[in-house]
Amino acid sequence: MPKVLNLADRIEKQLPPQLVEFMESTALIAGGLGWRLYLVGGTVRDLLLGRPNYDLDMVVEGDALALGKRLTETRKTGITVHSRFGTVKLRWQSWTIDIATARTETYARPGALPEAKPGLLANDLFRRDFTVNAMAVELFSGRWGQLIDLYGGLKDLKAGLIRILHDNSFIDDATRIWRAIRYEQRLDFVIEPATLRLLKRDIPRLDTISGDRIRHELELALKESAPEKVLRRASDLRVLAKINPRLKGNDWLAERFQAAREYTRPDSPPVPLYLSLLAYPLPAHDIEDMIAFLHLPKTEAQVLQETAELKSVIKLLDKPKLKLKRSEIFRLLTGYAAAALETNLIAADSPAVRKHIRLFLTKLRYGKSAITGEDLIKLGVPQGPQVKNILGKLLDARLDGNVRSRKGEEELASSWILSCTRHGGC
Ligand code: ATP
Repeated sequence: MPKVLNLADRIEKQLPPQLVEFMESTALIAGGLGWRLYLVGGTVRDLLLGRPNYDLDMVVEGDALALGKRLTETRKTGITVHSRFGTVKLRWQSWTIDIATARTETYARPGALPEAKPGLLANDLFRRDFTVNAMAVELFSGRWGQLIDLYGGLKDLKAGLIRILHDNSFIDDATRIWRAIRYEQRLDFVIEPATLRLLKRDIPRLDTISGDRIRHELELALKESAPEKVLRRASDLRVLAKINPRLKGNDWLAERFQAAREYTRPDSPPVPLYLSLLAYPLPAHDIEDMIAFLHLPKTEAQVLQETAELKSVIKLLDKPKLKLKRSEIFRLLTGYAAAALETNLIAADSPAVRKHIRLFLTKLRYGKSAITGEDLIKLGVPQGPQVKNILGKLLDARLDGNVRSRKGEEELASSWILSCTRHGGC
C-alpha cells in the first residue's frame, strides 16, 4: 500500500484558524447527515505548493444545498444557491466558501455548460480540468487531512506539469485552453507535451465558446500578477488570435503592462488599463469587432473607443514645450475617460505627447475659474450660451496664467461684457 500523505499540518499552518474551525464543524454536520466532505481543487493544489489561497472549495458526497442551509442556521453566512449545478457559495466573515454536491457532468454539446448529476468524489474529480486541480483532502474526522490523489496530481505538481485528465478534455470545454495557459504561466509550470499537442489540435474548438465566457477568461488572465506572460504564451499558441487576429502578446505589451502597474495602485490589478493597452495597436474597426465579440460592458467599450479616438488627437500634442498653450492642451484632452488618457500616456512613443498628457492628468483637468455662471448673470450676462462661452474663456485665461485671482477674473469678465454690449452681442 503506498503511504498516504496527510496535509493536517499544512492546513493548520497555512490556513487561518477560523477557516480550519469552519471546515471541522462543516465536516461534523455533514458526518451527522451521513455524508463525507472534502476539500478540493485550487485550495489543495496551493496547500501543497505553500501558496496562500483562502478561497475554500469543498465537495460533499450528499447534498450541498441542504448542508449550506444548515450552515446558515448556525452561523452568520451569506448564501447564494445554484440549484442547477448543486452548488452553494457562502460568504462568511471575509471569506468565500464554495460547497458542491459531488457530481458527474455530461455536455449536451461541446462548449455548452455541463449538465450535473449526483455522483461520487472520484467522478467529481475526473470532470476537473487538470491533474493538479483534481486532488482532494478528507475532512471526515477519522481521516482528517488525508490526500486523495486518483489521477497523479501530486507527481505532476512535483514535476511542474499541467496535464488534462482525458483526451477529450479541451473538446468538452475549450475554456480549459485559457486555463492551462494561465496556470502554466502563474505557477511557472509547463503544459505537459501530450496535453500541449491536444491543446493545439483543439484550438478551433474555442469557436464553440461564447464571447461572454471568453471575456471572463481574458479578465482572469488580466488579474494575474504578470498577465503579459499569459498573453505572450496565448499569442505564441495563436489562442489570442481567436479573439482578434491582430492582437499580440509581445515585448511592447510587456513593457506597457509593467508601466501600467507602476502608474496605478499596487493592491489591485489595473484590468481596464491592461485591456485597452492590449487593444491599443488595433485599427478602430478591429476594436469595434472585439467589443462586439467579447460583449464588453458599456464603460469598458467606451474606454477602448476613446483610446482609439485619442490616438489621432494626441498627434497635435507632439510639439516641443512652449509651442502649446496649456489651454490648448486642456481643450484637446478634456471630456475623455481617464483610463483612455492613461492608456495613451503609457502607449505613446513621443516624450512630448506623454509630457502633455501627464500635465493634463495631474494638473490641468482640475482647473476651474473662480467665478461661476451665477456670478456672470449678476454681472449682467443674459442666461444662455454666452455664460458658458465666457466661463470657457476665463478658464483658458486661468490655465494660461493670464489671470490669477477672482478679482482679476471679474475685471476680465466685465471688460468682455462691456465690449459685447458695445458691439451689440458677443
Ligand atoms: P484560482 O487559483 O485561479 O482561483 P482555482 O483552482 O481555485 O484557481 P477556480 O476557477 O476557482 O480555480 O475553480 C475551482 C476548481 O474547479 C478548479 O481547481 C478545478 O478543479 C475546477 N474547475 C474550474 N473550472 C473548470 C473547468 N472549466 N473545467 C474543469 N474543471 C474546472
